[in-house]
Amino acid sequence: MTKREKILILILVITTGFTVYYFSVLGIINLPTIPDEFTAVNTTKQKPLEKESDISVPNEKIITLQQVENVGYSFYLGQIDYPSTAPLGDTTKNNITQIIYKANFPKNLLKSVGIIIVNTLAVSEYEYIKTSEGKISMPSFSPDFITGGGIYSGKFGKMSLIFINKTKLSSLSEILTHELGHHIGAQLTSEEWGKYYELRGIPSTTSRRGTNWGLSPQEDFAEVYRSIFTGSKVRTYYGLLVKSGYFYSEETCGELYDRLMDNYKKAKYPNTDPWNMSWDMLFLTEEEAGITSNVELQNCRREVLSNQEKYSADWSLSFSGPPYYSIVDQATRDFMTQIINRLN
Ligand SMILES: [Zn+2]
Repeated sequence: MTKREKILILILVITTGFTVYYFSVLGIINLPTIPDEFTAVNTTKQKPLEKESDISVPNEKIITLQQVENVGYSFYLGQIDYPSTAPLGDTTKNNITQIIYKANFPKNLLKSVGIIIVNTLAVSEYEYIKTSEGKISMPSFSPDFITGGGIYSGKFGKMSLIFINKTKLSSLSEILTHELGHHIGAQLTSEEWGKYYELRGIPSTTSRRGTNWGLSPQEDFAEVYRSIFTGSKVRTYYGLLVKSGYFYSEETCGELYDRLMDNYKKAKYPNTDPWNMSWDMLFLTEEEAGITSNVELQNCRREVLSNQEKYSADWSLSFSGPPYYSIVDQATRDFMTQIINRLN
């Protein structure tokens, strides 16, 4: 073979190679791909043969949301579960509709939220939810999701996702209403947040997300929304804190409480013999005495709620759960109605 022939053959080999590659890029021909079993087993980090952008993620799974139409409501629903699992049934769809209805959730806002029921055991690493704002990747689920049962994704463009743990469907109303509350909270203007801070007695310097769950204004908003429509207790520490039970006698804030009550009694019933008090006086409640909103008392109660370990005596004295809970006043309820009307 002459030198010239060798060069010709080399050029021929190179151009054939290029043509095959080019055609495969265009999708005109299909080159054999690595079988799935191979990529699945081979989990150690190896240098990929192709450029990053050329690799499609192995076993990538796109979850599409179904649009459910029910009694005038239209919402997006999806599930993450094993491929063999049956699609979500009518009971779940009806329950969700009922919750949305009971929560007065603005119909207009349903366009921008997807509700996804998750079996955490069936979640794979490469899952995406297909929405009007493109593919949204799955959050990483922590053990909190098993106990708490719900996650609000925040906003991706206009779209938000609510993930509900499948094992918590028995508490769907509590969980979903709270997460829907987050979606309403996410629509508030800065001015509206300012008003909300005022109504709930939140110091204006507090960051909306907060660092402590119980002291996060965003959490408080979702809890207040839920409380208004399901009657549940608000678990955050803003608003007016009241004793969790009539018979709970305060430990840390007890002295302050007694002093405030005594002052009220002395002013209201002067010259009364302490050994001969009237029934009214004996069973006087803090609401009647109007001491609940006392700033010092509220700060003391908030402090007790913020540290269960430090104030364990207070916590153990209350019969169940935290020694105080937050109440939602009428002005806050009215504010919530206004917001819902604006968003509808
Ligand atoms: Zn929350």
